[in-house]
Amino acid sequence: MEIKLQDLTKIFQAKDKTETVAVKSLDITIPSGKLIGLLGPSGCGKSTTLYMIAGLLKPNNGRIFFGDEDVTDMAPEDRGIGLVFQNYALYPHMSVQQNIMFPLENIKVPKDEALVRAQEMADLVGIGDLMSRKPKQLSGGQQQRVAIARALVKKPRVLLLDEPLSNLDARLRLQTREEIKRIQRETGITTIFVTHDQEEAMSISDEIVLMELGEKRQMGEPQDVYDFPNNLFVARFLGTPPINMYDGVISKKNVLVNGKAIGTTKGADGEVFVGIRPEGYIIDKDGPLELTVYMVETIGRDTALIIKVPNTENDTFRVIVDASERIKPGEVVKMKIKPKKMFVFNKETGELIN
Ligand code: ATP
Repeated sequence: MEIKLQDLTKIFQAKDKTETVAVKSLDITIPSGKLIGLLGPSGCGKSTTLYMIAGLLKPNNGRIFFGDEDVTDMAPEDRGIGLVFQNYALYPHMSVQQNIMFPLENIKVPKDEALVRAQEMADLVGIGDLMSRKPKQLSGGQQQRVAIARALVKKPRVLLLDEPLSNLDARLRLQTREEIKRIQRETGITTIFVTHDQEEAMSISDEIVLMELGEKRQMGEPQDVYDFPNNLFVARFLGTPPINMYDGVISKKNVLVNGKAIGTTKGADGEVFVGIRPEGYIIDKDGPLELTVYMVETIGRDTALIIKVPNTENDTFRVIVDASERIKPGEVVKMKIKPKKMFVFNKETGELIN
């Protein structure tokens, strides 16, 4: 089921009449059968978007389509959605089985059939042998699986997940996110996954939508968005360690950082931001960048050199090099930028220039 959001806007009005534009003219097409990560910093409008798709919030403007059907004015229960929240929201007094069956009782599915369908869903999410337990007898990850089974048991057209892994510890988060990916693949259900965690979104999603201040900043396959950020916000938001951002100047198609030409661009002369990802450097004795290594972090496969850089926003950068380089603090290393690893941004608009 393809989902299309057309010019979707949500404005909240407080009692004192002050307005918050939570979502602004959002146009997104979510392809059928894909898992889409809705990603952005806290308050960027992810949950509001999800709740409008679910029908729990009414947009001020714009339309929502499931396939060809306009569902904008349809009640949540008629939309055919399964919703999973961060806090599981299971009924504590009911068993796992009763929790999963609950949505079917509401629509009067005969008990025998409901039992079979509940067991199928429990098996699918890997908790088929825990049916008689109460939620408090389960781990957080198991509880979230119950919530996913409950969301899927009605065979929804769309699965909506709002920060479903936030309450889990690091190891369980990894495990459960693999599970969600597997369940999504097996069922082929169009899924929207809200998270503020870029690594989570990138690892699980077929495509990510990056939002800021209620607006879509970029949508695409995770690696494409990482490799080709359209603007400063996207470049900065994706990547750990984060992208290194220099104050730079374009002069006759050369990009200068601290007076040294580090690459070329098609942009017009003027001041710019120059972004280079930590893995975008290469050691080269003739390289234009002369970096004094301040500290060295060993992270196993790679080594992060911590560099103090003048004329930058945060005065330390990380540069990832191969661990075999064995560079020591205090060393001066000459480097150049790998091909296609330099991003030049307009200082006013933040748009990509190169
Ligand atoms: P988070 O990751 O923190 O949940 P989010 O990206 O999901 O953030 P939303 O919850 O969609 O963001 O909120 C978007 C904006 O709308 C925020 O500025 C928020 O304060 C505001 N907002 C959300 N719900 C309401 C409401 N019921 N009344 C007024 N303002 C609201």
